[in-house]
Amino acid sequence: ELEVALKVVIVGNGGVGKSSMIQRYCKGVFTKDYKKTIGVDFLERQIEVDGEDVRLMLWDTAGQEEFDAITKAYYRGAQACVLAFSTTDRDSFEAAHSWKLKVENECGEIPTVIVQNKIDLLDHSVVNPEEVELLARALGCKLIRTSVKEDLNVASVFRHLASKCLAE
Ligand code: GDP
Ligand code: MG
Repeated sequence: ELEVALKVVIVGNGGVGKSSMIQRYCKGVFTKDYKKTIGVDFLERQIEVDGEDVRLMLWDTAGQEEFDAITKAYYRGAQACVLAFSTTDRDSFEAAHSWKLKVENECGEIPTVIVQNKIDLLDHSVVNPEEVELLARALGCKLIRTSVKEDLNVASVFRHLASKCLAE
């Protein structure tokens, strides 16, 4: 039986929790000061979706997103996308649309989930639920609210994407 392998890119402004999400999902850990392992482009995790074995390769950036310097190699061949912003970072929410365009520009239309991370900090939220839902609808993407810290909904992000890819 063939195993399906999917390259997933995770985009969004610096500090929204992208690296933490990959660490959480692939290694089961959350650390306050995660440092990227030098030389590692992605971490992987194998799951079963709709009766199929799927190997997810989650690509991380080394912080180049701050400088708008993500290379084409990062996007090359990506089959799914997580577009992340933070509950406590207004700029990251407002940048979501342009991240979507960037990915579309490099990869075409691929299954994408909009992730509102850090919902453990809802008391300090700088976005309201309605505008977030509007954005998701405008971009035509499923919205999933997560807390990587509390391990809320992280797995469902990747299950949803894998399922979408298998259905295509
Ligand atoms: P990246 O720049 O998008 O890769 O973000 P990082 O993964 O480096 O995370 C930036 C900071 O946010 C780190 O201090 C993380 O510990 C913290 N962080 C990530 N996810 C969460 C979360 O769900 N809740 C809270 N409270 N902090 C988080
Ligand atoms: Mg990072």
